[in-house]
Amino acid sequence: MPPSADPWGLNADLHCHSSMSDGVLPPDQLVARAAAHGVQILALTDHDEVGGQEAAARAASAHGLRYVGGVEVSVTWGGETIHVVGLRIDWRNNQLLEGLARTRAGRDLRAREMAADLARVGIPDAYEGALRHVGNPALISRTHFARHIVDTGVCAHIDEVFRKYLTEGKPGFVEHRWAKLAEAVGWIRAAGGTAVLAHPGRYRFNPTQLWALLEEFREAGGEAIEVVCGSHSRDQYGRFAKLARESRLKASRGSDFHAPGERHIELGRLPPLPDSVVPVWAGWPEAGQLTAALADRLDHRPDGPSPSG
Ligand code: AMP
Ligand code: MN
Ligand code: MN
Ligand code: MN
Repeated sequence: MPPSADPWGLNADLHCHSSMSDGVLPPDQLVARAAAHGVQILALTDHDEVGGQEAAARAASAHGLRYVGGVEVSVTWGGETIHVVGLRIDWRNNQLLEGLARTRAGRDLRAREMAADLARVGIPDAYEGALRHVGNPALISRTHFARHIVDTGVCAHIDEVFRKYLTEGKPGFVEHRWAKLAEAVGWIRAAGGTAVLAHPGRYRFNPTQLWALLEEFREAGGEAIEVVCGSHSRDQYGRFAKLARESRLKASRGSDFHAPGERHIELGRLPPLPDSVVPVWAGWPEAGQLTAALADRLDHRPDGPSPSG
């Protein structure tokens, strides 16, 4: 696949994970890999955690890469888990830090319950096994269990583990209550950031529910949805570009990279955003001078231009 950029020549990857959450590379190595893959503007968006931001920003500056602070907040909405990415956040903001700490707090107990369930179906010691994959003890996730279960040989790859054990209705799945949508968006905004609904194509909502979600998200102050991302098919790029336009939200692009070779997802290698949408980075100082084309598009948004973009 050719290296990709948006129609204005910027290779943006605004969604990926380090070993501070369920990625495997430490922030500095992740940034080095992004640079090697031609990413020009990057956000590290660890789950419920900003502990890697300082190191990522420092590495980005060393590699000549533009960096915006990021996070991916776990949210419960309509009985489902959804994810809200925060971009250009001030990761030192107290309201954000407190909210994230509260969101992380239930993870350890949930992990122990998952392990107890897994033991009942013949997978013993999964908590200890998952911990061997954990880079940040505050952030034990289903991904760490999945990597452990692949190690044991019970499943061949992590997709199979999720399908057989870690998704709703399966023996290792434990129901969990995450942050509320308005809370998550509020923390991101309190930290000066832009809230982006992550991978909308992954949620099991019907069109009416999805529309309700977008409405509530926008009312809470959400500004964009992911259109081109690691979880979407090519058909979904088009479908969510249309939805972004119809719901007057900007569009984001992010690989959701977690680990080299895992799930065939690489940093900076997705196709560009369709040119029918307004990129979430339009107007960001980090995105550099607006080209004439982009400036023109901003002027023709339904809401007209805004100083902050
Ligand atoms: P958690 O926050 O502990 O519920 O873990 C969620 C993470 O699990 C996501 O961010 C993905 O990295 C991973 N994940 C969720 N569903 C799948 C899946 N079907 N296949 C592979 N990884 C998945
Ligand atoms: Mn993840
Ligand atoms: Mn996600
Ligand atoms: Mn993610």
